[in-house]
Amino acid sequence: MKTEIDQLRAENKNLQRQMNNLMRNARHNEEKLQRFSEMELLLISTHSLRDLLQIIINNYRNVFDLNSVTLILIDPEYELLRFLDETGLQTDQLPELKLVTESAEVEKWFDKQLSPRLMAFQQQHEELFAGGEKILQSVALIPLIRQGRLIGSLNLGSKRHDRFQQSTSTDFLQRLAAIVSICIENALNVTKLERIGMTDPLTCVYNRRFFERRLTEVVSSSVRYSYELSCMFLDVDRFKQVNDSLGHQVGDLVLREVAGIIDQHLRGSDMVARYGGEEFVVLLPQTPVNDARLVAERIRESLALHNFNLAEGKSLSVNISIGVAGMALGKMGGEVIDLGLDLVRRADLALLEAKSTGRNKVVLAESYAEKAELVTG
Ligand code: GH3
Ligand code: MG
Ligand code: MG
Repeated sequence: MKTEIDQLRAENKNLQRQMNNLMRNARHNEEKLQRFSEMELLLISTHSLRDLLQIIINNYRNVFDLNSVTLILIDPEYELLRFLDETGLQTDQLPELKLVTESAEVEKWFDKQLSPRLMAFQQQHEELFAGGEKILQSVALIPLIRQGRLIGSLNLGSKRHDRFQQSTSTDFLQRLAAIVSICIENALNVTKLERIGMTDPLTCVYNRRFFERRLTEVVSSSVRYSYELSCMFLDVDRFKQVNDSLGHQVGDLVLREVAGIIDQHLRGSDMVARYGGEEFVVLLPQTPVNDARLVAERIRESLALHNFNLAEGKSLSVNISIGVAGMALGKMGGEVIDLGLDLVRRADLALLEAKSTGRNKVVLAESYAEKAELVTG
């Protein structure tokens, strides 16, 4: 009898232990699920590509206690690279992100079915974890797939050898990969749509709305770093005549080519926008006004020499007037927005002077201001 009781007690104890273990596991899974759904919500609510990539890499590593999270994305046309460049994110600021042009560079890690791979860390994996922690014991390589197409891979690395094993369930990881893929595609689409909204469809340069948004940003960084900043206002001379004599379509062609000529003379950091009708505006960061004047002179001259080839062997030449203003280093007090508006206003006034004193010329705002002082003084 006694042994039976002892046996039952022992069994009971054993069961209790198992129950506790199950309970602990359930709690652990519940916590994991909770962290997972918080992460999901965060990913889904992030529409900025830059923030999204940072969340995938940094938050995931911290929340799930991993030693390394890296992301490889296939970017054959350098589209992602350009978008990230525009947001000011240099790729060396996020070494865990690698953009590759060839899909083979990602395909080589997976089988034909593109299933996740969980295994012990091998030396060849160093290539995948270049920006992250070096001493890893186990890794999970998860393919990112959108509409049947491989778009990259998410790579998780742990210092624990039992964290990722062939037998580990991949449900969580596959779900995560699906969400990450959708969120990246969504952020890319949002960025593309924003770009369409910022661009003038006729000339393909930025539109006025984007210019005004960038103006404040550029002025504020010029103030912060004490950089000189110049602005040009350009207006095609007697453009109405082109439309009236040759038709609206020729007018459109002229505007497109004028935008192209302006752009050819600018540096990568300069920005040209169509301000309206046949008016363009250019911002030249880190450029003293005298250098901007030289650029303006080159644009004016190059347009004057340009032959617009029209149908039936006809040709046309067109002139442009340009006003140039600079934001001098010593005069940077006041609100950023006012400084920007003042810069544009002075370039516009200089342009008006160019128009009223003969057209096809470049006028500096400074000389206009001095003359105005002379007249009023
Ligand atoms: P000025 O030398 O004083 O600048 O004379 P202008 O003829 O260039 O200036 P005005 O403002 O009188 O005329 C500008 C013309 O530009 C009138 C307008 O119809 C035309 N325009 C504005 N936007 C477009 C466009 O998108 N396409 C075409 N073809 N014409 C446009
Ligand atoms: Mg004009
Ligand atoms: Mg005009």
